[in-house]
Amino acid sequence: MKVKVDQDLCISCGLCISICPEVFDWNDNNKAQEKMEEVPSGLESQAKEAVEGCPTEAIKEV
Ligand code: SF4
Repeated sequence: MKVKVDQDLCISCGLCISICPEVFDWNDNNKAQEKMEEVPSGLESQAKEAVEGCPTEAIKEV
């Protein structure tokens, strides 16, 4: 599974970072950004939760 945050859609709510800080973090523009494109298998369920929980559907599974 790979993830990518659409910077135009992210509203900086922080949900993905609180659900899965191993994969998502803040960038210099105060938006969430993936720390890695390929999500390790052990973190997939958390990453999926972040994808589903994002209020603006900014996180794409690619
Ligand atoms: S959950 Fe979505 S809107 Fe909120 S910080 Fe993460 S990517 Fe941005």
